[in-house]
Amino acid sequence: MKRAILWVILLTMPARTISTYAAPSAQASTGLTEDSRVRIALDWLKKNLPSTNETQIRLTEIPAPSFQEAARAAAVKALFEQAGFHAEIDQTGNVIAKLAGASPSANAGNNKTNGDHRDTVMLSAHLDTVFPAGTEVKVHRENDRWLAPGISDNGTGLAALVAVARAVQAAHLKPQLNLLFVANVGEEGEGNLRGMRALIDAYGAHLRAVIVLDGSSTDHVTTKALASRRMEAVITGPGGHSWSDFGMPNPINALVRGSVRFIATKVPASPRTTFNLGQIEGGTSINSIPYEARLKVDIRSESEQELARLESVLRECIAAGVRDEMDNSRDRTRGKLEFKVELLGSRPGGELRADSPLLAALRLDDEYLGNPSRPERSSTDANIPLSLGIDAISIGAGGNGGGAHSLQEWYDPAGREIGLQRALLTLLGASGIAEGAAR
Ligand SMILES: [Zn+2]
Repeated sequence: MKRAILWVILLTMPARTISTYAAPSAQASTGLTEDSRVRIALDWLKKNLPSTNETQIRLTEIPAPSFQEAARAAAVKALFEQAGFHAEIDQTGNVIAKLAGASPSANAGNNKTNGDHRDTVMLSAHLDTVFPAGTEVKVHRENDRWLAPGISDNGTGLAALVAVARAVQAAHLKPQLNLLFVANVGEEGEGNLRGMRALIDAYGAHLRAVIVLDGSSTDHVTTKALASRRMEAVITGPGGHSWSDFGMPNPINALVRGSVRFIATKVPASPRTTFNLGQIEGGTSINSIPYEARLKVDIRSESEQELARLESVLRECIAAGVRDEMDNSRDRTRGKLEFKVELLGSRPGGELRADSPLLAALRLDDEYLGNPSRPERSSTDANIPLSLGIDAISIGAGGNGGGAHSLQEWYDPAGREIGLQRALLTLLGASGIAEGAAR
């Protein structure tokens, strides 16, 4: 049975892979695991599970809301340095540890006709969480589960990033291409992928592949980037007293009128398109006519056209809500409402090409590990490289987790070594390994 599956995979693998990507894809096969250093690294990951678990708990307990990742970044930098890497923190706040490849330029030879030198592979995990400063992040244990906000997303990814880097060092593995181990800022929400954007600005022209570790599990591989827009509507007015100024236009009324129009908007099931009114705020007290009301909306779609359409529908609905409120206010001489609708963030879409050597490497690793996985569309750090035509995937880093982005978030480390080994083998499959030991 298993042999039949392997043959299906091999037969459906594009033949082109081999000619355009000779060294790494040849090694991505079982040849990779025949190398004794690779087996030492795989073993290291298994033997050092307790320290990987500890790392995850320690990093999770350092608060790291988007834009406030510095303390957690410093801790990751120290872990890279303990592992023997030279690590640095860039201007955006990303932690970067480099391992020079044996012959990156020779390997990039295939691409010389294109005038670029894609001699580097990046393994990344985001540092930030969605939880605001002050959130209790102490890890509690309940039977086999660990509970804490951020424990899985992205405590798992960060722990795996550090573990894989340590395993590569411990086994004295010398990659063919340069490796970048990166803990990046700004993946969540209004971070708007700023960490990954800065990394692609700096290294994009050199990147052969990007592997993003995000959250737990090993059952999927994100190969399609889900495009999204984050919008904010702000409506302002003069504000006043609930009794004596009654009849004056009210920004909250206008926002509600506009919101009701927007949520009645039809969206297609295919291409799948969603919206969420995620945050609403404004007003000063129950007995005041507010001078301001704000609404944040997240729009996602498999289609750029749908995104653009919903963005303009939102703008029209808010404008109509303001108009309705002005038309219906009992005393229009008592001031005018102003409004604006702004783009808070925009994540571009993209798709990994079907014949990508990176995907071929991952599939072979899944076969080796006996780990079936399904391709998936999602919004991750991989959006940025994918939107620019750089091969990228996002994968979970093992174990099981749930309740992401909620205070009930949990993680169960059972079986996590498969996730760690999968990350290591995919990285080495993409970079290739060189003869001899790295010292
Ligand atoms: Zn995440």
